[in-house]
Amino acid sequence: MTGSTVAPFTADDYRARMERAARAAADAGLAGLLVAPGPDLVWLTGYAPTAITERLTLLVLTAGQDPVLVVPTLEAPDAAKAPGAPALSLRDWTDGKDPYAATAALLDATGLPHSLKGVGGAPIGVSDNAWAMHLLGLQKALPGSSYASLTEALPMLRAVKDAAELELLAAAGAAADATYEEIRRVPFAGRRESDVARDLAGLLRRFGHAQVDFTIVASGPNGANPHHEVGDRVIERGDMVVLDFGGLKNGYGSDTSRTVHVGEPTEEERRVHDIVREAQEAGFRAVRPGVACQEVDRAARAVIADAGYGEYFIHRTGHGIGVTTHEPPYMIEGEEQPLVPGMCFSVEPGIYLPGRFGVRIEDIVTVTEDGGRRLNDTTRELVIVD
Ligand code: ZN
Ligand code: ZN
Ligand code: ZN
Repeated sequence: MTGSTVAPFTADDYRARMERAARAAADAGLAGLLVAPGPDLVWLTGYAPTAITERLTLLVLTAGQDPVLVVPTLEAPDAAKAPGAPALSLRDWTDGKDPYAATAALLDATGLPHSLKGVGGAPIGVSDNAWAMHLLGLQKALPGSSYASLTEALPMLRAVKDAAELELLAAAGAAADATYEEIRRVPFAGRRESDVARDLAGLLRRFGHAQVDFTIVASGPNGANPHHEVGDRVIERGDMVVLDFGGLKNGYGSDTSRTVHVGEPTEEERRVHDIVREAQEAGFRAVRPGVACQEVDRAARAVIADAGYGEYFIHRTGHGIGVTTHEPPYMIEGEEQPLVPGMCFSVEPGIYLPGRFGVRIEDIVTVTEDGGRRLNDTTRELVIVD
């Protein structure tokens, strides 16, 4: 994540998000939230330092208190330009001073010391990106304090997108779709996976992505490994090729997969592709408000299991997407979180036949008032490439 986002959000939007987060933290029994540079800070304030250094930058959120962003003095002018800056106060610290004591004093000023002193006090939620050295520094400055993972305590904090966020996600999805429409026309046979991956990255950027997170090109037997990213294997006629690519456009994510075939496929390849397509359709059709996340996984998985390939679908059906390309909610057995209009996530079943080939089909889907809407809509038929 570099630079600040160009998302069209106002200080009021960020104020509302910070208030919501502070309230959610209190409701979850947390004393407050400490948010380091990363996706949570971008979502809450629009601030993304150009370089993340060892100097402490930390947003302090506590219910009923104004948000405070602790920043190094030399980065304060940049932070003051963040779109969310008018909704918070900046507290800068200069080299040689102790930023942990300053942050601890801030937390003290909120009346927290009672809960923070001694065992059994409410834990403070900390974003995943906080460096261990910063957390250790705070622990020293606030003896007896305890901490909890923000993502674990508030997994759905960023899950429900507002209308402007949905538009940005749809635009990122459309850019990924435009990328697929182009890539299916490039030559595959005789080129290396890494060559096609480079094409994918170039296209994503051409269609407006500032950040490319992944360009998976998994040909032939490599396709059977869902973790295979890209290698030097030369693609051959007869290969199935799993393509899975995405990144950030205007600060919001794209992520789509299609599986193409080089030349005419065998009957078995067609059948396996059909099953995955049906599974993806079933997962999509399961999406509606109130349905548990795990039901989306079950719907997709049932199609593949009924066709006899259950043991070859070896990952969850989907993951959330927003200011990152992988985040809650997860479409996985055991996740009982009900779907809420505005949630956005992937539906991406696959079948992986070891040593032979793999198929995955993935769309980003958003929950509407009465069902789901796809943010990717290129053909899900098996496309033949050259
Ligand atoms: Zn083949
Ligand atoms: Zn993907
Ligand atoms: Zn995905």
